[in-house]
Formats: sequence, C-alpha cells, structure tokens
Amino acid sequence: MTGIIQQIVFVIVLIGGITIFSLKMKKIIRNIKLGKDLDLSGNTGQRIKKMLLIAFGQKKMFKNLIPAFFHLLIYIGFIIINIEILEIILDGILGKHRIFFSDLGMNATLYSFIINTFEFLALGVIIACVAFLIRRHFLGIKRFQHSDLKRWPKLDADIILYVEIVLMGCFLFWNASDQSLQKIYASGGGTPENAAIYVETGTFYLSSLLMPLLSGMGEGSLILLERTMWWGHIVGILIFLNYIPYSKHFHIMMAFPNTYFSRLQPQGEIYNMPEITREIEMMMNPDAAQSGEEAPPPSKFGAKDVTDLNWKNLLDAYSCTECGRCTAACPANQTGKLLSPRKIMMDTRDRLEEIGNNIDKKGADFEDGKSLVSDEYITEEELRACTTCNACVEECPININPLDIIYELRRNLIMEESKAPGEWNSMFTNIENNAAPWQFSQQDRLKWKDDLNDENK
Ligand code: SF4
Ligand code: SF4
Repeated sequence: MTGIIQQIVFVIVLIGGITIFSLKMKKIIRNIKLGKDLDLSGNTGQRIKKMLLIAFGQKKMFKNLIPAFFHLLIYIGFIIINIEILEIILDGILGKHRIFFSDLGMNATLYSFIINTFEFLALGVIIACVAFLIRRHFLGIKRFQHSDLKRWPKLDADIILYVEIVLMGCFLFWNASDQSLQKIYASGGGTPENAAIYVETGTFYLSSLLMPLLSGMGEGSLILLERTMWWGHIVGILIFLNYIPYSKHFHIMMAFPNTYFSRLQPQGEIYNMPEITREIEMMMNPDAAQSGEEAPPPSKFGAKDVTDLNWKNLLDAYSCTECGRCTAACPANQTGKLLSPRKIMMDTRDRLEEIGNNIDKKGADFEDGKSLVSDEYITEEELRACTTCNACVEECPININPLDIIYELRRNLIMEESKAPGEWNSMFTNIENNAAPWQFSQQDRLKWKDDLNDENK
C-alpha cells in the first residue's frame, strides 16, 4: 500500500471503529436509563475515594494475593501499553513512522526506555493471561466450572485472554521486525528511501530476543511483517474496543462509574418503601404518624421486569465480570439451592439487552410479554432461596449488589402477586398482628422468664 492510501485506509478504519463503539455505548446508556430514577448525587469526595480504592486500586481483589497480582499486571500493563496507541494513531493519520522519536524529537534514551517499559509490561500481560487460562481450565476452581458459565460466557472469558496474548505478540514482533530493518539500513544495505523511515531508535531488549527468528528474511519480507504487526496491533485494539461491550470485560470501563455510585449506607440497611413505613408507623403510633406527610401511593411494589428496577441495578448488571466470587460465597448456592447471584446479574443484563433490541427493532412501545421473573430468566425458586446475608455484596470486587435486585423481585412476588410459601404467609400475619414472627401476643413475650423463675424456685 502506498503512503497516502495507507493513511486514508487508516483514517477510515479508525473512524469506523470509534463510531461503531460510540453507537453501542449510546444504546447501553439508553438501556440503563430505562431503569427507575434514583438520586445518588452528593458525597462526591467519599465516592471518588471509593472509586479510586476499589476500581483503580482493586482493593477487594487483594483478598487473594496471587490472582490479584496477575489481574493488576494485566490491567496496568494493558492501560500503559495502550499509551503507545497515541503514537500509532498519529503515525497512521500523518503517514509517519515512530513520530515521537523521528519528528517530535524525543530523546533516543527516553524513547527506548518507554518502549522497553511497554515491552516488559507486554511480557507481563502474556504471562498473566497464560496463568489465567491455566487457572480457568486446569485448577478445577469450582466457580469457573459452575453451570452459569455455559457456552458463550465460558468462551468469552477465553477469547479475551487469547486476544490479549495476540495483541501483545503483535506489539513485540512489530518492534522485532522494525529493529531488524534498522540494522539492515544502519549497515548501509536495503533501499535508500526506506533508510530514512527505519532510523535507529536504540535497543528494545525483549523484542530483540525475537530477532534471530527473523534472520532469514529479506528487506521486503521484513517490511511486510513490520506493517502486518503494526496493522494487527491497531486493528486488534479497535476490534477489542468493539468487542468489550458484548463481553464480561466491559467491567474494565464500567467498574469506575459502578464503584463511584456504589452504596454508601451500611450493607445490612434495607431500603424501606415510604408508603409501607408510613402504614407501620400508623399501626405503632397513630398520633405521631398523623403529623407526617402523606407518602404518594406506589405504582408497583417491587420489580417484575428490569424496567421496574432502578438505573443503578441496571448499571450493576452491565458491570458484572462474571467472576463468580459472589456465587462461591453464597450460602444458598453452597447448600445446593438453585440461586446463584452471578446468574441474577447475568440474567438481568440479558433481559435488559433483549428489551433494548426490541426497542431498536420494533419501537419503544413494543411489549414482548416476557418478564425477568420467569422460567427463561430468574425463577421464583431462585429468589426464595436467598437468605439476604449480603455475602455476595461483600465479595464482589466492584461493589455490585445482587441482593438489591433479589429484594425488589421478591417484593413484587409477595406484595403484588401474593406468591409466598405458606410458612412465610403465617410469619407475615404474625408480624402484622404481633410485631414478631411468632404466634404469641406481645404481652406474652417475657413469659419464658416467669417459667424460668418457677423452675428455679
Ligand atoms: S444475600 Fe442471597 S444471594 Fe447474596 S450471598 Fe446471601 S443468600 Fe446468596
Ligand atoms: S456480581 Fe460481582 S462477584 Fe458476582 S460475578 Fe459479578 S462481578 Fe463477580
């Protein structure tokens, strides 16, 4: 490809990649906004601190040091190496080669130091990806073998690790072929006009170890390899960018807003519906309750479908990494119940995507007659198995709250559809009549003490 054609193709590929990504993001933001309003404004300082500690610092990952170290290596490596994209983009648009060094006058020592740092990080990313593949497939870790991860979710986790290895490989082979060309021109060989492009940049230590593999290649083959690796790296990154919103790896972006808006109240504090609180206040103390303002009647108790959940619940669903730490800690799951908090999050996201696709294809008013609580998604049995212990919330590395969704779905089942097991209904009646789950009247609560006194006489 001649220079100008290469520049035109590059600009088209770049704009195409970014446009497709932006359109998908617009749809995802629209889908999240289908959730009910929830005011999470304020407490900015506290929220930023939480986001920096949990999303950026990965604080909750460090409960288990070795995977945390590899995860941090992939994360930091990938982010820092992508700084190189800035140079690649400028080179591609302006038809330059290593513009920071050749045209912008970056000092050779500094330039080779930066590229060497990227190369060592690239090696770190490759090692971490291989370690994660081994961990997923050969160490028999239960949460990776769980039935939630069938077909696509299982494949998705592997695809992304392979893609990262390929991207890092392109980066290293690009540098290796570039250095091989630099060597040819430095020794006076090759085509003179190419000598001005492949000027000596200093040694890139890791990729120079790959140069013996290229020793049999002539100038033309090396240029072809160098260009292929350069294009492979940038096109791979654009493909990766567009793949992420369909993948569990979307968390690399969503973890930041998700932790920023995560819950600040104590974990055990349940969101009370004002209209129900008011009813109870009236029951307990009618005089005091009369002075308060009337709460507006609710349009619906709890949630039946994703659009009845609030936008933060939906943001949670898009942020889930499908790591399964919540499911591994869930006492209901551990004791063989159907409930898996990871599946709650995956089903919420899948149903939201389904509604989003319906809007795109059939318009905003289209109703498919389905709901999140159904045999296709979350069943009543799963919802009833939850002990509301909060272990899933505590375990989640990016502060997702599956319990919040379970509460809302269960509220709807019980308060709107009266679908509660018989024992629960007796308990509800007791609470209503006796302010306790048992069948005794409030006056008899301390009777056990009298019985004890009688026995001790
Ligand atoms: S709150 Fe429910 S879903 Fe979460 S860990 Fe406890 S039992 Fe499992
Ligand atoms: S909710 Fe959190 S802990 Fe559970 S799978 Fe998703 S990211 Fe992992």
